Amino acid sequence: MEYIKELLVNISLRDVIDVLVVAYVFYKLYKLIEETRAEQLLKGIVVLLIFTKISEVLHLYTINFIFGKTIEVGLIALLIVFQPELRKGLERMGRTRFLGKSFVEIQKEEQRRVIDEIVEAIGALSRQNIGALIVLKQKTGLNDVIDTGTHIDGKISSGLLINIFIPNTPLHDGAVVIEEDEIKAAGCLLPLTDNKDLNKDLGTRHRAAIGITEDTDCVVLVVSEETGAISYVENAKIERYLDLDTLRNYLKQLYNYEEQDRLNLITKWRSRNEA
Ligand code: ATP
Ligand code: MG
Repeated sequence: MEYIKELLVNISLRDVIDVLVVAYVFYKLYKLIEETRAEQLLKGIVVLLIFTKISEVLHLYTINFIFGKTIEVGLIALLIVFQPELRKGLERMGRTRFLGKSFVEIQKEEQRRVIDEIVEAIGALSRQNIGALIVLKQKTGLNDVIDTGTHIDGKISSGLLINIFIPNTPLHDGAVVIEEDEIKAAGCLLPLTDNKDLNKDLGTRHRAAIGITEDTDCVVLVVSEETGAISYVENAKIERYLDLDTLRNYLKQLYNYEEQDRLNLITKWRSRNEA
């Protein structure tokens, strides 16, 4: 009892910080290798360590010697075998944790890439008169819409977008929903607008695009199957016959987050990267 009391009195803030930092580093290291091939190997080493300790306690010196040597060699082998994973892990750590600036740059690059891929896909679809309906989520959540379609959760690429809308394929009917840099779902059903004043040559695809923007803040891009015309829909207003440069400018404005929004996004992306 006396001993414990003395121990508690002697714990300084420095010790607490020391332990917390070590715990954090070990936790991070574990997260890095979790669900990689290294996880199995590490478990093997832990088992070896336990056996080594047991053999030591039981004074089984030869076994202890062999296990000890195996672990030494094993640790070096681990570093060599998992060099690529280690490098990737360290790179990831450097990007997200310590160098906030470089993370923002990556995020900007990613935004530019997303815009390029979308514009490229819309251009190709329009040239080939392939009908398309793409919802870009803003602040309002769209999970109810996403759940009417097929979940994809794939990184945006023009190839994937074009492929989704190729006629007579299972997912081409309905809308694609995009969230940040991901295609969340395809084949989604949107609510049609009841607006009677709309131009009569706007069919259900365009009415669905207008419908979803009536009660949410999302932006919808439409390519007409009949004419190849590109439309930009926001706040229940449709702008038709856009050229690709105008579309690109609109998207740039859309993704030009205000500082606060960008910070929110960074925090969100960070937690996602860490998850
Ligand atoms: P287009 O100019 O491409 O012909 P449109 O406005 O004339 O478009 P339709 O010809 O009626 O519209 O297009 C039908 C397609 O629109 C459907 O095959 C489907 O992919 C899509 N669509 C129709 N209604 C919805 C809806 N409620 N939600 C999502 N997609 C829809
Ligand atoms: Mg039509």
